Amino acid sequence: MKAKNFTRRKFVGTVSASTLGAVAIGSIPAFGATKTSNKLAILGGNPVRQNKSWPDWPYVDKNVMDSIEKTTQSGIWCRIQDRENGTVVKFERQYAEMMGVTRCVAVGSGTQALHTAVEALGLGPGDEVITSPYTDPGTIAAILSARALPVLADIDRYSFQVDPDDVERRITKNTKAIMPVHMMGQPADLDRFLQIARKYNLFLIEDACQAHFAKFRGKMLGSVGDIGCFSHQSSKVISCGEGGSIISNNAELMEQCYTVQNHGTSKFGRTETIGPKYRMNEFEGAILLGQLPTAMERHAVRNKNAQYLTSKIKDIPGITPQKLYDGTEEGSFYLYTMNYNKEEYNGVPREKYLKALAAEGVGLSPYIKNGLHREPWVDNIMGRKEYQQMYGKSRLEEFKQDMACPVCDLVCDEEMVMLWASGPLLGTTDDMDDVINALAKVYENRDQLKSI
Ligand SMILES: *Cc1c(COP(=O)(O)O)cnc(C)c1O
Repeated sequence: MKAKNFTRRKFVGTVSASTLGAVAIGSIPAFGATKTSNKLAILGGNPVRQNKSWPDWPYVDKNVMDSIEKTTQSGIWCRIQDRENGTVVKFERQYAEMMGVTRCVAVGSGTQALHTAVEALGLGPGDEVITSPYTDPGTIAAILSARALPVLADIDRYSFQVDPDDVERRITKNTKAIMPVHMMGQPADLDRFLQIARKYNLFLIEDACQAHFAKFRGKMLGSVGDIGCFSHQSSKVISCGEGGSIISNNAELMEQCYTVQNHGTSKFGRTETIGPKYRMNEFEGAILLGQLPTAMERHAVRNKNAQYLTSKIKDIPGITPQKLYDGTEEGSFYLYTMNYNKEEYNGVPREKYLKALAAEGVGLSPYIKNGLHREPWVDNIMGRKEYQQMYGKSRLEEFKQDMACPVCDLVCDEEMVMLWASGPLLGTTDDMDDVINALAKVYENRDQLKSI
């Protein structure tokens, strides 16, 4: 329960010694020192955080640089030039081992990973896949590219994850798979999704594109369902510009993934099925390989900082860290997200709140503007000949009619407050205190928000 009688005295008593030290020497014009420090920075007061930067992202070190140089000089630039010791195949082996699975196939993006998985599972025209509207467009692009139908279920207001009850309600005779998205790199409600997949005999595809090294009941995310997909796009915690990977313990399915992403051509060189060419190149492999040896150290720092943030932020009214499900052990902390409740801020809308925080030197983002149910692809496929033929007009009408996701709308329009965390959560405790102090200062001085 939140302390409704939140006071500065109580809060300052809990901030770290490093921040208090800084206050004492006056470098952080934080709480309680002078009268002007009570003024929000946006109204001319002193900002909580000044002249400091967040850790750089994407991550680069000598090992990464050496790895790229070695690949450049080797002339092995494409994975089929060296099937034993190339960077892509080495990355696949190492990543699979870290994920606790037998096999990984690397591809050119998270979207490509998801599309490859969908094709390899044999899903296509006439099939329906239920997923979340609150996600990257790549999630549904993967389903649409196979000409399957992405059916969107609403989300939970506080976990931001797709809601199992609404998923179950949307199952039809054509539903073949569910694709929960582990948003913010935290587990979706996997106990329920495993149960639903079993009960209705559906594939469970994990969109773990944000969720590298996140753990659920002792298992890495991506290894819990039938197949798991990751993104290695620049912003993600394991990144190479654009890249993706697929993991599973199902040897046959993974061989099919290899074949699909290799323009339908198997490792034996026979062109067997429909497939795009999605192969990861050796430079991408080199960058990924170069960062794996130290990746778990960064993962641990993000988790430690996130725990610290949560332990403090939970006492600030009206701003609630993401709800986690039972079984959650570690997060990727690609993003650190919170729910903003304007009732605790005299009804001040989120946009003003975010402006006030930015002026304090802590820039948080509203993140996804529109759930995918509010994007124009819906009308686009309604008008397409192949969708009309494969699904029938009445199913498409019903699909469109049942598109509403009001909780997702509320989260998008009013409540999501996000700290991009790949780099920032590698910061010091002092950096974390800036975030906490900015949130606390704006709460304490919430009466001033009306005059922004
Ligand atoms: C990033 C992301 C994707 C797509 O990955 P790309 O590498 O950008 O294609 C898919 N789903 C989620 C949840 C993502 O965050």
